[in-house]
Amino acid sequence: MVSIISITTFEGWLDFLVSTSLAEALAKNPKGPSMSMCDSCHAGCCRSYAVPISGADIIRITSDLGLSFWDFVCRWEDPDGEIAQKYAPHFHFEDEPEMPFVMCLIRGESQTWPGTGKCMFLEESPVTKEHPLGTASCGIYSSRPAACRAFPTKLNPSSELAIISDVPDRGRPSTDPVYELCPGPWEKEDFDAIHTVQDLIVAEYEMQFFNRIATVWNRRPGPFSAFPEFLNTVYSQRIRKETAEDLARNDRPDSDLKHAA
Ligand code: SF4
Ligand code: SF4
Repeated sequence: MVSIISITTFEGWLDFLVSTSLAEALAKNPKGPSMSMCDSCHAGCCRSYAVPISGADIIRITSDLGLSFWDFVCRWEDPDGEIAQKYAPHFHFEDEPEMPFVMCLIRGESQTWPGTGKCMFLEESPVTKEHPLGTASCGIYSSRPAACRAFPTKLNPSSELAIISDVPDRGRPSTDPVYELCPGPWEKEDFDAIHTVQDLIVAEYEMQFFNRIATVWNRRPGPFSAFPEFLNTVYSQRIRKETAEDLARNDRPDSDLKHAA
């Protein structure tokens, strides 16, 4: 029998569905969404990685939490593209015009494990006998960046299915146990079939939009101090009323609905 985990194309997935009964397919996924592995984890992911953020992530966090850009955003030098990973855009600034930077969440030092790093929003719980590395949770869970929502999944090449990535044992070369990642393998039953794909689609869309913003900014790189205002200007223009020009173009799918109403 073919495993859903091994299906990486949309056509393969459809073939699977038509070759099995719906009841049989549902029986393979009897559980609801679950991220229980994270609940008892020390969050090695949030300790290991610099988290790239999009403009949409920045606007949402500032709006939801009442923070300023400077409270949680930093720019990381990324000359080798290791942080961007062909996902996040590179920005250039006038103080170091040759250096590509990625917008990331600020990191800080762990209180539980001094000398190690973590995301500034990671909230740590004390070490216990049951959890020798402690447990930890995201302090901005409902507003967390799209990259955090997506981990450890990614879209298949045609952007229709969620693929569970192979998570390495460690997030950093360091042998420090706090950088160990997920304690076990992820299974498809651990993810919500709707939200997982939707989160991935939104993450991809917003990062593509941010890449276009980077193209504009990088034509005439300004100082980093001007970047928050630039972002606010761009995102505040993201919604506008329909104009006569829009109507004349008549290329909107809802135009028939308007005429019918
Ligand atoms: S924002 Fe939350 S989920 Fe993302 S790295 Fe920070 S603590 Fe982890
Ligand atoms: S390392 Fe894995 S199990 Fe632990 S919090 Fe991150 S995603 Fe969850």
